[in-house]
Order: sequence, then C-alpha cells, then structure tokens
Amino acid sequence: MSEATSHTAPRAKTKRTVATLAAWSIAIALGVMGLKFVAWWLTGSVALYSDALESIVNVITACAALWAIRVSFQPADRDHQHGHHKAEYFSAVLEGVLIIVAALLIMAQVWETLRNPQPLTAPWEGLAVNGTAALINAAWATLLIRKGRAARSPALEADGHHIMTDVVTSIGVIVGLIAAVATGWNLLDPLLAILVAVNILYQGWRLMGESLSGLMDRAVGVEDHMHIRDVISANSRGAIEVHDLKTRIAGRATFIEFHLVVDAGMTVGESHVICDRIEAALTAEIPSVRVIIHVEPEDEAKLPLGTSAVPFA
Ligand code: ZN
Ligand code: ZN
Repeated sequence: MSEATSHTAPRAKTKRTVATLAAWSIAIALGVMGLKFVAWWLTGSVALYSDALESIVNVITACAALWAIRVSFQPADRDHQHGHHKAEYFSAVLEGVLIIVAALLIMAQVWETLRNPQPLTAPWEGLAVNGTAALINAAWATLLIRKGRAARSPALEADGHHIMTDVVTSIGVIVGLIAAVATGWNLLDPLLAILVAVNILYQGWRLMGESLSGLMDRAVGVEDHMHIRDVISANSRGAIEVHDLKTRIAGRATFIEFHLVVDAGMTVGESHVICDRIEAALTAEIPSVRVIIHVEPEDEAKLPLGTSAVPFA
C-alpha cells in the first residue's frame, strides 16, 4: 500500500483550527465561570450556584479536550502504529464523569438550603450577570458544534453540545428565579437546582454513551458505506469482485478494508496498480482515510464468475 502524502497540508491546517478552538474554549469557559460565580455571590441562590458549579466542569473539560486533541494529532509511532485518534474519546468520557460529580455536589448544596432556607439578595443584578454568561455560552457552543463537526473532532463537538445544555439550564434557572422573586415562593430556588442536577446527570450519561460507542470501533453510517462502495466500484477496473468491505471510525480517521478478487494469473505489479487507484480515489473523497486491501485469486470470489464488472458480494 502507498501512503498518500498529499494529505499533510490540510491535516496541519485542521490541527491548527481545532487546537485554536480548544484554547479559546478554555478562555471563554473561565470568563463564563467567573460571571456565574459573581451571579451566585450577588444572590445566594442555590440554583445559580448549581449553574456556576457546572461551569467549573467546562473549564476542566476544555483543558482535557485541548490535551486530547494534541495527542490525537500526533503521528503514528512505534507503540501506536494506527495513530492516536481515539485519545479524543477519553476527554469526552472524562467530561461525562465530571458532569456526574457536579450533579452530586449540587444535590449536597440543595440539601443544605432545604434545611436552612434564605431569601435571595440582589436577584435582578445576579440574573443579569448570569444571563450575560448564558449569551456568551450560546454563541460559543454554536460555533464549536459547527466547527467540531466540520473537523470531525468528537472532543470539540462534545464540548459544544455540553455548553449548549448549560445554556438551556441557565435559561430555565433565570425564568424560574424571576418567578420565585415575583411570587416570594423561596422553595422554587432549591427545586430548580434539583432540576439542573437531574438534567446534568442525563447529559453526562448520554455523552459517555456516545464516546464509548466510538471506542467500540463503530462502522460508518449507511450513507457513507454506500458512498465508499461506489468509489471502490468506480475505480476497480481490471478486478473481478470486491467483498468483505469493513469500516471503522476512530475520531477523525476512517479505516477501510476489503478483499479485491483478481484473475489468478495477474502479476503483483498489475494488481497493485488497481489497489493504488482505489486508494487514491478513497483518499481524495474521504478525510483522514486509511485503506487496507487484501488481493485474492478468482477462486475466492463469492459471486458466480461472469457477472457484471466488479460487483460487490
Ligand atoms: Zn501499495
Ligand atoms: Zn475474500
């Protein structure tokens, strides 16, 4: 197999983009966390405390994502000969774990508040500060999800989705606290904090599930699978059949392997020309692709010989 060198330049550009986004994520998470703690300090609201606590998780996971992205872009080495793509899933799993820790801390504070309830101080100032933090988060999350998907970075995308759930909980908390102040029903504050904690728990569980499926070598989707089949078919002139096509996704990388049936009398040189043509076509169509082709003589064919050119078995 020949390694395609033409992909070095876009790869370096993707790495820069992803690493820059991850670094900005840390800075923004710190700023938002500061604002949310100010909002808590102004009001003494346990719901705003839960919101602020959740943003500590963002700071830690933004750091973890940057680390994972740096590792995942390291070229293959002696100990990791297929590359380091899966490092990004670790940061997504860690994020899930930390989210669950945050939920437990919130529950502890809710318990404390229920035993010793206090009216909110300076609620409007606190809500304005928290609302500003939520707006910053909403803008940043939208950008992260879009860019993370384009760069096929599960760490960035997970980060974006997580921040977006923070925005939703922030809005819920703000609306609820406005109602609490308007009605004077102070119990609404710890009740909101419980809702935040439950939502956080659910998000953490979902996030870990997605990352674990990545660690389990999930195949590409049906649409991508059919696209890969089409590219192989269109470029395997001279071969008899293709079968046992298997794919797996690891972070940004897509691994593709299949059997290529050729005439038993074909020379190694001739079959290699076909392999290189298919590899080049797949490399051009799919980002960060690794192709392994197993060449076989015609008695390994799964379809009856003489059917149309290069059918799939
Ligand atoms: Zn080769
Ligand atoms: Zn075979």
